Amino acid sequence: MKIGILTIGNELMNGRTADTNSSFIAREANQQGWVVEAIMSVCDGLTAIKNRLDYLLSMSDAVICSGGLGPTADDITTEAIAKAFSLPLYTDENVLNYIRDIFTQFNLRWVENNAKQAMFPKGAQVLPNVRGTAPGFSLSINGKMVFAIPGVPAEAKLMVTDSVIPALRKHFPQDELYIVKQTIKTFGLSEAAVDDKVKDINFNSLGVNIGFYPVFPENHIVLIARGKNQNEAQKNLQKAQDEISARLQDYIFAYGEETLEGVIAGLLTEKKLTIAVAESCTGGMITNRLTDVSGSSDYLERGLVTYSNIAKISMLGVPAEIIEKHGAVSEETVRLMAEGLRKLAGTDLGLASTGIAGPTGGSPEKPVGTVYLAVADSRQTACRHYAYRWDRQRNKEVFSEAALFLLKNFLEGKFS
Ligand code: ATP
Ligand code: MG
Repeated sequence: MKIGILTIGNELMNGRTADTNSSFIAREANQQGWVVEAIMSVCDGLTAIKNRLDYLLSMSDAVICSGGLGPTADDITTEAIAKAFSLPLYTDENVLNYIRDIFTQFNLRWVENNAKQAMFPKGAQVLPNVRGTAPGFSLSINGKMVFAIPGVPAEAKLMVTDSVIPALRKHFPQDELYIVKQTIKTFGLSEAAVDDKVKDINFNSLGVNIGFYPVFPENHIVLIARGKNQNEAQKNLQKAQDEISARLQDYIFAYGEETLEGVIAGLLTEKKLTIAVAESCTGGMITNRLTDVSGSSDYLERGLVTYSNIAKISMLGVPAEIIEKHGAVSEETVRLMAEGLRKLAGTDLGLASTGIAGPTGGSPEKPVGTVYLAVADSRQTACRHYAYRWDRQRNKEVFSEAALFLLKNFLEGKFS
């Protein structure tokens, strides 16, 4: 099924309101496995609304309009929809009484404009609005459907989930009604590279839709699987997930609501290991993320920001000669930072970062975006060197992510 979304309001046109309703509606439609064919926004103008509505309806099975159902003169969505389909307007006495009751109940002065919210195009099905005064409505036009819902986001959301989606499911019955969803989180590949790795999989034949969502610095894959029942949908999802996992196993770190720091928390707890962190260029961001997990005090012993050479020497025991010879941003230094801290803190593991976040401080040999990372235990130290190309904030974020990713792989025994 194809859906068109039309958000209506001058406030959307002048930039005073960001259109969040359309993204909400699109997400809900996607959840159902429906295709959103187009999203448009338009001013509060009779002809403008009518034209956009005609256009969207020409390419979709249903159009959902939000906004412009209120009592003021600029709220003309109902009138525009009636005009688009040459339908007369009528007053629904039940709705009118309901709105009058609300005014009495809250001791508000009745203004005749409010009666406008009880007017609907002939043939409309009224959709109740329990959060506000303006109800929505739906119309069936030559087998297609048109919905009008309020602009106020809280009212719009409730009406979409409680009225619009059920009405669409009823009007367009589908064989495959069951939908299950999974998010697969990857790090270390660009969005295009992730796409490239899975492009040979025939998702359609598996009854699965795939979407790619960059959530910097991660790339997420969202799978939406359909099936005649819950079991079949779940099976289809699992097949698609297995195919993807086989191709992206070196890059996947979590599924669903799991986070990288959450996965690490699980591994450290399971293995009963403790850790200390020494950060230079990441300025505490790695430690901050580790402490985002409740219960992190069980394994995180300390996090130090050793920004200066002096701090690396006096707090981590990195020999001054090493820094002098190889530089603070080097494999030799980061290795000794992780190993030194581990010994001083008395933890099972030491994790360290040193790099150049920019925009200043780069050189031809070590450009902005260079980072060295190390994780050490009593048996070995794993070091990694990366070159990124983002701005300062993003470099810090990607450095931190790379450090945690290295730690996860280390804990999973990928270096032993
Ligand atoms: P009301 O009964 O409150 O008048 P309405 O249907 O007329 O409802 P609007 O007047 O268009 O709705 O908008 C009401 C509020 O909702 C405004 O504050 C507006 O900023 C916000 N709003 C409208 N459309 C959107 C949208 N697409 N996304 C997010 N917010 C919106
Ligand atoms: Mg409005």
